[in-house]
Amino acid sequence: MTVLALDFETANERRDSACAVGLAWIADGRVIRRESHLIRPPEMRFSPGNIRVHGILPANVADAPDFATAMAPYLGDLRRGLILAHNASFDIGVLRAGLVRAGLPVPDFSYLCTVQIARRVFPAPEGCGLGKVARRLGIRFEHHDAGEDAYACAEIALAAMREREAADVHALAAALGLPITRATGGPAVPRRAPGAISGRAMAAFPQTPAALRFAMRGSTGNRYDVSFEERPGGPQLRCTCTAGRFGVRCRHVKALEVGDITDLLSDNAADVLLLARMLGAKAHVAGAA
Ligand SMILES: [Zn+2]
Repeated sequence: MTVLALDFETANERRDSACAVGLAWIADGRVIRRESHLIRPPEMRFSPGNIRVHGILPANVADAPDFATAMAPYLGDLRRGLILAHNASFDIGVLRAGLVRAGLPVPDFSYLCTVQIARRVFPAPEGCGLGKVARRLGIRFEHHDAGEDAYACAEIALAAMREREAADVHALAAALGLPITRATGGPAVPRRAPGAISGRAMAAFPQTPAALRFAMRGSTGNRYDVSFEERPGGPQLRCTCTAGRFGVRCRHVKALEVGDITDLLSDNAADVLLLARMLGAKAHVAGAA
């Protein structure tokens, strides 16, 4: 299973104001990949207190991608993997709030907080803030840079695994008696058939569902085509894979519904965002009814 550390910086006190993200993947006892990006928040309102923490100014993010665009390449790993974060309720909250603000559906996320890990494995009177734990462990990093913070978070988990001789993060969590938290997605199950788009939601978007077609890579490398077909509850995505042909909302359809482009073969990532927004708008309308 993919395990990755996640860290956000925000422009102001709102959870949906992410202005930077850092990610660090771990496997085989080490950090194997790092990514960090600036994000243009929906409002260009930067609180002085937040700027003091991360040093990111409005001018730095004026040309950065918005939340949905910046996060699209990582939603697959975040959705299917185990997320590590230092004070995870904050970063998971930012992730969820950013998706909601972008009009995207919120998938379920599994996560583990490295503050909880550090308190059990590396306790100290000074506490278990990211900078303090990293200093105690000799992890060198630039605090409050999202990419560096995610890296430090990953290294704390790795140090705890070595300390407790745990084979992986799941074994570490079990040894420490720390449950892996499952944050369930939302909005609540719509009353309409799942995956169907309401007329009101469609009216808000320029493109008709019939124009949206996607090619997806299956687990064995096969190419499947996903497009809309008319159903009694409204247009619904149908996939040409085996499950899809039996009318099942297969994993290719589910990935597209949440804006996950990991297995997208067709060159239309922007259409995936549009689709996910249509479905998010539908769920919102249905949930408000
Ligand atoms: Zn499929």
